[in-house]
Amino acid sequence: MPKGVVVVGSANVDFTVTVDRLPGSGETVLGRELYQSLGGKGANQAVAARRAGAEVAFLTKLGADAQGDLIEQRLTALGLPPDGLLRDATSPTGVALIFVDRQGRNQIAVAPGSNQTLSVDEVRLAALMISDGAVLLAQLEVPLAAVAETLAIAKAHRAITILNPAPAQPLSPDILKLVDVLTPNESEAQALTGLTDVAAAARALVEQGARSVIVTLGERGALLQDAKTTRQFPTFPVKAVDSTAAGDAFNGALACALAEGRSLEEAIVFANAAGALTTTKRGAQEALPTRNEIESLCRLRERT
Ligand code: ADP
Repeated sequence: MPKGVVVVGSANVDFTVTVDRLPGSGETVLGRELYQSLGGKGANQAVAARRAGAEVAFLTKLGADAQGDLIEQRLTALGLPPDGLLRDATSPTGVALIFVDRQGRNQIAVAPGSNQTLSVDEVRLAALMISDGAVLLAQLEVPLAAVAETLAIAKAHRAITILNPAPAQPLSPDILKLVDVLTPNESEAQALTGLTDVAAAARALVEQGARSVIVTLGERGALLQDAKTTRQFPTFPVKAVDSTAAGDAFNGALACALAEGRSLEEAIVFANAAGALTTTKRGAQEALPTRNEIESLCRLRERT
């Protein structure tokens, strides 16, 4: 009996320096603190699904270095099995270098390192792990061929497949046909279709093969498009201070709710609550809400 959520994707260590102002070209600025945290859309979404209450397995490619050890230590402490945390002998673990100024503006450069080495063969070797999930969740920070193979394996085992197409890159109908739920944000929906109207973009992606499309709309919630209908789902009003990882929280919680057998509509409400809560705290993985927090926010709306 398939269960839980399988996430396939990237993991990085983020190094963030706070600065009074962002450096210009060729300039050195003296920063303040250095923060080290875990990032990468794959790891963020795996942690989001886990904190939302799912059993999660995560397939990713780390380097054989101290950063890889740190990620493995943190993820296994959260209850993710170590089996899917593969190591590349030659490439370093993915790293993001981030500057944040006093106004919260940032500059980010990512060295994807070992994330770029996840191969189709490695995905095939993990077929047993992938086929054990009720829901498969992937993004586009690892090679597209590996993502396509993952979707194909999950589909063959009747899992529900979610693809968060971030960062956006062209997707062929062959890949879209393997996707039950495509979850672009507004700018990704536009980049994938060339259409500025969100509903038109969502319809185009369904016509190209995705079974349903959820466009996340920040403080306006989410739009669900399937072959027949378009529906808007308002999010929860919160005092937002930092929207980092809101999309990751939404995707992880969506996967968790679908793995529990909830309908897509119920899952979107749960995911909106998770996304909204994430914006009330600073940072990425440290801002992801627990199941209790998500359920409390959902109950507040039921009462009103
Ligand atoms: P991304 O982080 O990928 O750009 P969005 O900005 O669309 O994604 O946010 C994802 C989800 O997080 C939204 O669909 C919504 O549920 C929630 N969210 C984001 N910003 C807010 C906000 N200001 N208030 C309430 N919910 C929010």
